[in-house]
Amino acid sequence: MDYSRQELVSGIGRDGQKSISSKKVVLVGVGGIGCVSAQLIARAGIRELVVIDRDVVEVSNLQRQLMFCEADIGRPKAEVAAAFLRKSNPDVCISYFSEDLDLDNVHLLNGDLVLDCTDNMEVRYLINDYCMKKSIPWVYSAAAGNSVSVFSIRPGGPCFRCVFPDSRSGGTCEVVGITAHAVTVAASLQVCEAFKLMLKSPTVGMIRFDLSGYVFSMIQVSKRGDCRTCDGKLDYLEGRTGSTAIKLCGRGMYQLKGLKVDIDDFRNRVIRGGCVSIDDVIVFPDGRALVRAASEAEARSKCARIFG
Ligand SMILES: [Zn+2]
Repeated sequence: MDYSRQELVSGIGRDGQKSISSKKVVLVGVGGIGCVSAQLIARAGIRELVVIDRDVVEVSNLQRQLMFCEADIGRPKAEVAAAFLRKSNPDVCISYFSEDLDLDNVHLLNGDLVLDCTDNMEVRYLINDYCMKKSIPWVYSAAAGNSVSVFSIRPGGPCFRCVFPDSRSGGTCEVVGITAHAVTVAASLQVCEAFKLMLKSPTVGMIRFDLSGYVFSMIQVSKRGDCRTCDGKLDYLEGRTGSTAIKLCGRGMYQLKGLKVDIDDFRNRVIRGGCVSIDDVIVFPDGRALVRAASEAEARSKCARIFG
């Protein structure tokens, strides 16, 4: 691969490219954003890229997940992505894990930089805890509807939980929709931040972009005095929090507890008893959900798709 055009860019140069070429990047989630971020970072010429994703390709993904095509439906996303990326840049060492990132495999995040492309708050808190413990910088990304957010978390700076102190989340793309052009903007901003982190240039805090009115804002963030993670309490890494699943016998139903969902955000989906019903998922106001699914993993996946 030839990086001469990239080296010409102010702030990169030969030395910058050398630095980029020494980096191991771990990317979690090859959905809409992840498909583009993975290609951009691989083509940038890093040393090694690790791709982690728990899902298989579905027909509803193809409109915005730019590494997949119809022939890939039903195949693990991580595997398909790795094959695509190896062709995009054979110089980069690509490995993949078709796994749900959790306490058992969180060590897979070990590298120079982590890119969060997950659309899942619990996984982000786990990434935040692990990266805090290991002093690894990481970049959060999110896109839903016309709104895009990107935020770099550096060791010693404000962490993810300083900005999002609890996992209460609004609608994901399953509820508010998502376009390919929105995820592409998010991925470009995320990889721009990744370059800044790899080249030790300053990053700016939380970037927000609204595609409907082209409103670009940079929100200053600072450490919260009461942030549990910055205080060394790594609740997610130490298994003190997170949802738990129980199978309800014989009905193909799973019960998940401990979800933090703001029912008000789903007002138009509320059914009797103040519950929210979306597809195969019913969420109760106490944070309990009943999910119709064939396995615990599928139940978690269905829930995560709706509530993040
Ligand atoms: Zn913090």
